[in-house]
Amino acid sequence: MSGQQEVDVLVVGAGQAGLGTAHHLARAGVADVLVVEAADAIGQVWRDRWDSLQLFTPRRFSSLPGMPFPAGSSPTPSRLEMAGYLAAYADRRRLRVRTSAPVRRLSVAGGGFTAHLPDGSVRARHVVLATGAYRRPRVPAAAGDLDGAVHQLHSSSYRRPDDLPDGPVLVVGGGNSAAQLALELAGRHEVTVASPVVPRFLPERVLGVSTYWWLLLTGVLNAGASTPVGRFLHARHEAVFGRQLHRAVRAGKVRLIASPVVAADGPRVRLADGTELAPRTVLWCTGFTPDTGWIDVPGALTGDGAPRHVRGASPVAGLHWMGLPWQTRVNSSLIDGVDRDARRTARRIAAALWADGAVTRAG
Ligand SMILES: Cc1cc2nc3c(=O)[nH]c(=O)nc-3n(C[C@H](O)[C@H](O)[C@H](O)COP(=O)(O)OP(=O)(O)OC[C@H]3O[C@@H](n4cnc5c(N)ncnc54)[C@H](O)[C@@H]3O)c2cc1C
Repeated sequence: MSGQQEVDVLVVGAGQAGLGTAHHLARAGVADVLVVEAADAIGQVWRDRWDSLQLFTPRRFSSLPGMPFPAGSSPTPSRLEMAGYLAAYADRRRLRVRTSAPVRRLSVAGGGFTAHLPDGSVRARHVVLATGAYRRPRVPAAAGDLDGAVHQLHSSSYRRPDDLPDGPVLVVGGGNSAAQLALELAGRHEVTVASPVVPRFLPERVLGVSTYWWLLLTGVLNAGASTPVGRFLHARHEAVFGRQLHRAVRAGKVRLIASPVVAADGPRVRLADGTELAPRTVLWCTGFTPDTGWIDVPGALTGDGAPRHVRGASPVAGLHWMGLPWQTRVNSSLIDGVDRDARRTARRIAAALWADGAVTRAG
């Protein structure tokens, strides 16, 4: 594409949040929707994650609206299965997706928005920002004080154990990535996990049934962000699905220290409890922040670049967020949470478009 194009709704990002929103927009009768995706292929985010990554959500909870995740030999999908599923979803739902189309800048103009792409621009009345909450690696400031002899990398750059030099590995973090990677590395390296909190390990199954079902049945999975359960969970650290790391720690295969990294000096890392470690590799499993630097829309972001929104609705009319952690509920940034949030977003957009009149309506 080159030149200028006009659409009613532009969805930025063809991950689960963007595709689920495009699906619900079509169901709500909004016909003129374009999804633009920076990567060359749908699902690239998952292809770029580490080789052995297995989702922590069972297949049933890894589905988007209208297309169950296919059965397979493992209870949870692999990252490549997830990538393939997203591409198949876009295809099956006949969603209009343009790949290799990074939005370099989003600006406001004449009652709408302009998305600036390398080879042209797209004007839209409504824009859905579904560009992912897990984009920019976050590492503690102490990382900058480690000397060059220590190999350090963030979980987003990690691919496989062979890529790490021989010697002790310090895995920093207490979430699912830290747990999976510590276990994977424990076979070849002496592994210490420095978790900022005492990790909460959830069993994968209770009474033979996936823990996810229990979380669904008890209402925890869909608890609204402002409910007492939601507030309680929000204040706590992410739970780790599966007790394998817990067992490895008990068997002495992995050392776990529940204390955050507070400083580094040359080859040494210091934890808040006074422990000093001299790892050969530090693997930062310390999370992500969204990348919003390209959003040039007054009022859309807080002073430090975070999305301003109430349940995904921006204070800027016509601008919408999708896939944010805690956007409306516990699972808003997980695959299973897309359906509800996408339906809500699509209805809000459809209502505004019908109120404006002069839009392309499906059917
Ligand atoms: C290691 C890891 C494992 C996870 N495992 C699970 C799991 O098991 N189960 C689960 O439910 N959740 C899991 N998640 C959480 C979440 O489901 C995933 O991160 C998921 O990829 C988020 O989907 P999304 O659509 O919000 O964002 P993304 O998948 O990040 O998609 C956003 C898309 O927007 C595109 N984009 C970004 N900026 C632009 C731009 N300026 N212009 C155009 N396109 C742009 C990106 O290329 C990308 O394709 C995991 C997260 C991580 C980090």
